[in-house]
Amino acid sequence: METPKAQGAKLTPSMILKFLDQYVVGQDEAKKVLSVAVYSHYRKLGKRRPDSVEVAKTNILLIGPTGTGKTLMCETLSHFLSVPFVTANATSLAQSKYVNEEIEALLLRLLEKAGGDIDKAQCGIVFIDEVDKLKTGTEQQGVSGERVQHAMLKIMEGTSVRVGAQTIDTANILFICAGAFVGLESITANSQAYGFIATSQDDNQKILDRLNSRVKPTDLFKFGLIPEFAGRLPIIANLESLSKEFLVKIMTEPRNSIYNQFREMLKDEGVELVIEEAAFRQIAEMAFEYKVGARSVRGIFEEMLMPVMYAIPDRPEVRKVVIRSLFEEAELIAAS
Ligand code: ADP
Repeated sequence: METPKAQGAKLTPSMILKFLDQYVVGQDEAKKVLSVAVYSHYRKLGKRRPDSVEVAKTNILLIGPTGTGKTLMCETLSHFLSVPFVTANATSLAQSKYVNEEIEALLLRLLEKAGGDIDKAQCGIVFIDEVDKLKTGTEQQGVSGERVQHAMLKIMEGTSVRVGAQTIDTANILFICAGAFVGLESITANSQAYGFIATSQDDNQKILDRLNSRVKPTDLFKFGLIPEFAGRLPIIANLESLSKEFLVKIMTEPRNSIYNQFREMLKDEGVELVIEEAAFRQIAEMAFEYKVGARSVRGIFEEMLMPVMYAIPDRPEVRKVVIRSLFEEAELIAAS
């Protein structure tokens, strides 16, 4: 990926957003929140300040159903910024008896991704999925979710961790936590509304509605995050479930969409691939039923293409493949 950073241009939130737009479909609000947060984070790193003006780190919480682009967004960002990126799963952290060792292993992976460059690793992004599974009162093989929250709290805030022969300072690492937080919506809907802004004008009402629909730290406490942990995640972005229309777009619009990938692959064989809209809609319908966001799209798509990918290498005369429906054989057209 050719990034503006690689080209030496000065970074702005709108540039980050534009880059994300090329790879992540929809999720406009979350992309914007993330762009501003990431811009501010890396700007802070670049600035030296007098010790008295310590700017606190702002880690991020992404809330949204599975397969809606949370990991994709963060990984895309890491490419844009050319910083190392690792993911971890909070449920697995909680299943381990030795949480701190798991955290060390995670930071070691970050260091490896940075090619052993400690400075680069210290500016990386760590993505931790399923943090909602750590809510208080939960226990996995004897380790309480709360204990894991405490362990993560320390590294998120900034501490020195020995990793092999080296020490990593986590103060400048950006931690992005994510989870589906099932049930949080009703907590937010019932939590006390902001009502102190005069609401005589439409605009004020809009601002008020937006503030009230936002997840508040108190909602996260009620959900089961300990206050200190929720307090380390001041920036919260919501991702929406993906409609069938968005699932179609995901297959066709991003720069590295699955459609483009297969078109490229077949182009290498001298074959033009054309898939008609109806087939994409059928895949989207099917994927939608699985309720795992865009996760199931790739599998269904690859299954549809399998007979074509099987046949083409034995059919050098074929120049074009047309797929009209998921339930019809592909048409293989030879050179005339
Ligand atoms: P999660 O929200 O569970 O982290 P992921 O980001 O891992 O989901 O998404 C799984 C896969 O689905 C991605 O690799 C990508 O191919 C696709 N996908 C999900 N959401 C989007 C989106 N908004 N735009 C483009 N692709 C998406």
